[in-house]
Amino acid sequence: GGIKSGLELKTITENSSTVGSRILVFVRVRPMAKKEKEAGSRNCVRIVNRREVYLTEFASEKDYLRLKRLRGRHFTFDASFPDPTPQQDVYSSTTAELVEGVLQGKNGSVFCYGPTGAGKTYTMLGTMDNPGVMVLAIKDLFAKIRQRSCDGNHVVHLSYLEVYNEMVRDLLSPGRPLVLREDKQGIVAAGLTQYRAYSTDEVMALLQQGNKNRTTEPTRANETSSRSHAILQVVAEYRVRHASMNVVNRVGKLSLIDLAGSERALATDQRTLRSLEGANINRSLLALSSCINALVEGKKHIPYRNSKLTQLLKDSLGGVCNTVMIANISPSNISFGETQNTLHWADRAKEIRTKACQADEEIMLVPETETDQAKLLLELQKDN
Ligand code: ADP
Ligand code: MG
Repeated sequence: GGIKSGLELKTITENSSTVGSRILVFVRVRPMAKKEKEAGSRNCVRIVNRREVYLTEFASEKDYLRLKRLRGRHFTFDASFPDPTPQQDVYSSTTAELVEGVLQGKNGSVFCYGPTGAGKTYTMLGTMDNPGVMVLAIKDLFAKIRQRSCDGNHVVHLSYLEVYNEMVRDLLSPGRPLVLREDKQGIVAAGLTQYRAYSTDEVMALLQQGNKNRTTEPTRANETSSRSHAILQVVAEYRVRHASMNVVNRVGKLSLIDLAGSERALATDQRTLRSLEGANINRSLLALSSCINALVEGKKHIPYRNSKLTQLLKDSLGGVCNTVMIANISPSNISFGETQNTLHWADRAKEIRTKACQADEEIMLVPETETDQAKLLLELQKDN
């Protein structure tokens, strides 16, 4: 791998037509933890027909079917994954289609949402033995590129960043916080490492290291912070040779987001959100909830500017993007309230409509020297 050179991208044509599509929402239940078992907890989550989730405090199968009539304890999602569901199945159902889209120049994003300990990082990053969505997506991306005859024309770059305490940090090259800047592509973190990836093998180690760089809270010594959001951005460019110049004629970006723990920040209405604002609760997470509320209600003004996270994700939420949300929950009745809130929030996210992109744009590498620029102009004139 290597770091991307100083080449800048410039859009020359933009004919994207858009169609509305809604956010796909999934739920994944993790296995019962040892601690929960020891505390004598019962399973309070039932999944029926691979889609419906019932929350029950009753033990018998007959009882939970009656709950269908109880409000707030029965939810339907695009798919619900019981324990155990292999990482590969979660990847295939939630993200594989977005990876295909990225190769066609469509942007996509996948969020993991839920309280601390519910399985967000396991789902996104996974372990060496059981790699998660981030790693499987990159593996699949490389496999799909290899299947195409013109694989030499694809270039893949990775960036891995963190939002913690309203500061943006580069997880591949830790150092000072990065400044967010608005340019033609949208909001970008200035100076963020763009790692050129050639194979899957190097990626897991890279991401594990990046994850170790996530900010830890002093009180939770060995744990990555429950208040840090990690964002992996995978950019795939398809380049073709245009006379003697390399022209990028398709770019697709996939954003994979491991959100901060949602505990204490769960609210699905503006009034509750406002009352939480003063209470030292993750500002980016509250801002994300506010944006989702505004998007669901069809508001004209969406308050992206309220936090670093929502600025970074502006093009992934209301913009031209295919979006997937995975809500992670514990099966234990000890977490009943938290789980119910998480499912309620996820249920609301189903209502967001995004503009799915039919990308048809051509982007050109801007030459570094004036002679290149002159040559390029000549080539373009010849072509027309
Ligand atoms: P979060 O990132 O939401 O705080 P983690 O992903 O760190 O939670 O999960 C907490 C613990 O549960 C970890 O030890 C993790 O390995 C384990 N775990 C979570 N989900 C699963 C799963 N689907 N299968 C097996 N273990 C899991
Ligand atoms: Mg985590």
